[in-house]
Amino acid sequence: MKAETENNFFSKIFDDGTTVTNRIKYTILQWSAAVVHFLLIFIFASVGVYSMVVFNIGSTICYILCGLLVKRERYILFYYIAFVEICLHSYVATILVGWGPGFPLYIIGIMPVIFYMHFSLDESAGLHESLLIGLCCMMTFIICKVISFRVEPIYIISEKAAMYIYIFNSICAFGLLLFFSLFFLREIQVSKSVLEERNAQLDKIAGIDALTGLYNRRSMDKLLNNAAASGRTFSVIICDIDDFKKINDTYGHNSGDEVLRKLSEAIISILRENDSVCRWGGEEILILAAGTPLSGAALVAERIRSQIEGLEILSEENIIKCTVTAGAAESTEAGSVEEIIGLADDRLYSGKKSGKNKVVFE
Ligand code: GH3
Ligand code: MG
Ligand code: MG
Repeated sequence: MKAETENNFFSKIFDDGTTVTNRIKYTILQWSAAVVHFLLIFIFASVGVYSMVVFNIGSTICYILCGLLVKRERYILFYYIAFVEICLHSYVATILVGWGPGFPLYIIGIMPVIFYMHFSLDESAGLHESLLIGLCCMMTFIICKVISFRVEPIYIISEKAAMYIYIFNSICAFGLLLFFSLFFLREIQVSKSVLEERNAQLDKIAGIDALTGLYNRRSMDKLLNNAAASGRTFSVIICDIDDFKKINDTYGHNSGDEVLRKLSEAIISILRENDSVCRWGGEEILILAAGTPLSGAALVAERIRSQIEGLEILSEENIIKCTVTAGAAESTEAGSVEEIIGLADDRLYSGKKSGKNKVVFE
């Protein structure tokens, strides 16, 4: 029970589409920023830098108010506000306490977030905008370093205090990096698996005949070549509906389609798991009986013929009856797949000529 609850919790965070996940992600980000700045109020108070205490009170309030933007899904605007705040905070902190406490580290932390947004949000800024912001981050980082080099900090804090603040800032900045890298990775994984699933679906659809749901010729060509390559004996049966044109002319094309569907269902119900069946042409159905000699294939074809002969197909208030003629051939009777099919086709043709509704296998 507990595992199930945990599962649901994680699937809510990670697996859902974009809305729920984004809301959770950016809410976490917004509250983390508010909490970090709230803690910085006390950190700066402890080292006596009161102007930064005031700055961070303002920042904390700003991040709390950003909750309204997150609620309205204005994530990009929220990002810009955070970006400006972090850059400003870095400049002011560097001027006041110098480079030592490492406030510009946050600029590195925020840089990949815009690229992540570009990747994950539909309405996100474009690639050029992301690049521009990336360059601004770099420039701010360098300018802060130059400022610290040229200007003596206004407040001198102890090296020990600077180190502790540096560790605190590193944890927060790397936490930000880790947080978004994790989501980036997760989203790439999800996109990849969705793509693979869609490709598999498309591949399946491409190999199936839309009307009958049987394999199409493309799939059957592969199966026939595989059967030939295996070296095991196999047989092919080609069934052709007798006087199908007449059925179309008498009952209409829709009823003709219905006959094709029902016939396909009937054939599938007769075949074994090892057999494959495809719509070979308009009203021709080809069966590949793997591991089956001609005698077995002749029996299967006869079962199909007699079952279809007894079939009554209801379509548009008409009861339609039809028959099929089948020709069968075994792999050992010819050299190539084309020749085996040609042989079965010849036998089908001779069955048609000699009265239809029969199976010919010699
Ligand atoms: P035979 O006994 O010699 O096979 O005669 P037949 O009328 O069945 O053969 P013919 O080749 O003269 O006609 C085949 C017909 O099958 C013509 C074509 O319109 C019809 N047909 C082919 N594909 C479809 C289809 O998907 N749906 C429908 N309703 N008819 C189709
Ligand atoms: Mg026909
Ligand atoms: Mg035909």
